[in-house]
Amino acid sequence: MPTSSLRINAPRLLANLECLSRIGKLPDGGICRLALSDEDKLARDQLVTWMDESGLDIRIDQVGNIFGVRAGLSNLSPVMLGSHIDSVIGAGDFDGCYGVLAALEVINILNENGIVTKNPIAVASFSNEEGVRYQPGMLGSSVYSGALDISNALNIVGVDGSIYGGELERIGYAGKMRSGDIRPGVYVELHVEQGPLLDRERIPIGVVDGVVGISWWEVTVSGGANHAGTTPVEMRRDAGLAAAKLVQKTREIALKVGGDQRSTCGMIRFFPNAINVIPGKVILTVDLRNSGEAGLAAAEDLLLTSSREIEASDDVSIAIKLLEKVPAVKFDKDVVSSLEKISGALGIRSRRMISGAGHDAQLMARICPTAMIFIPSKGGVSHSPEEFSSPEALTDGGNVLLHSLLVFAGVVDGDQRF
Ligand SMILES: [Zn+2]
Repeated sequence: MPTSSLRINAPRLLANLECLSRIGKLPDGGICRLALSDEDKLARDQLVTWMDESGLDIRIDQVGNIFGVRAGLSNLSPVMLGSHIDSVIGAGDFDGCYGVLAALEVINILNENGIVTKNPIAVASFSNEEGVRYQPGMLGSSVYSGALDISNALNIVGVDGSIYGGELERIGYAGKMRSGDIRPGVYVELHVEQGPLLDRERIPIGVVDGVVGISWWEVTVSGGANHAGTTPVEMRRDAGLAAAKLVQKTREIALKVGGDQRSTCGMIRFFPNAINVIPGKVILTVDLRNSGEAGLAAAEDLLLTSSREIEASDDVSIAIKLLEKVPAVKFDKDVVSSLEKISGALGIRSRRMISGAGHDAQLMARICPTAMIFIPSKGGVSHSPEEFSSPEALTDGGNVLLHSLLVFAGVVDGDQRF
């Protein structure tokens, strides 16, 4: 069979996704498979069993990332395909798991068709992507790509007081391989979009050429607490009112900067938080995201100038602290355009897009040419039991991944179409 007519076995991929989704299933239907929990261990065991059945050489690194390696004809750099299988609380079936199990499906198709690739292939499942139990998220890929030191990672204390390294030992996934030792020549991650664009536009494939930069701010507004009944309006230094104005500004910032700028106040606390007291202090957070450095910088400037204006108009003081900044990531131009061509050659429509969510791929982009493939999420819903991607969408994405692999790993036999 010419390699151009190869397709994934969709029923098998769907069955494997279903099987994995039963591990950590909550009574309400969502999944809870927090990193290094008993449920995560069971899912890892299942994945390793499947990798073994597919003839992959299984390697576990020091931070708990799992790799299944298929030899190639050469010792060239491997093509790495992967994602993660840990979950948030109340997750759907597809976030992360889809990318890992579709990669495994690609291996099965190669095996069944006796296809030998020039480059070796590595299927990767990165540890603690979600970051619910241990922060930061994308921990496994951060260590793998050298963004985070292994000893720091192993000492991270979880929200439940557990130590990452201790839990990794407990579940039996503290591997010996040095993180980063399998150095890929290219990394491709297939993932559900987790946003509404592809579903809204009825486009089956998103070729992701970057991930937004994020800047997180903590804003403390200080005014004067006083009696709600006796203090005349003109004598108030109302931190609550000033904070409300700043929340309103977050929307204006997004509209003013335009493009894909996002701006959100997601957390707010009033002090003393009493019905009959003018708030003396408010602490709130602002989450700014943009795919471009200049846009993000403009949004940060607007946040600062808005704060100065509100300080003056409302007789309060506003302190702004940067909590975290993650720069925008641009994926590899050549990998991105190859993915577009591959999708087109399969007759599947695609569009370029930016990811508004973080993914392991943005860390892997530090060490090798990288890009991502998205498929539609119904209604843009994710991190929810309602997360859904249709069997057709899952199949299209799997086939684009399969043919990407055939191109990037240099298939020897058959007619090479791209
Ligand atoms: Zn994910």
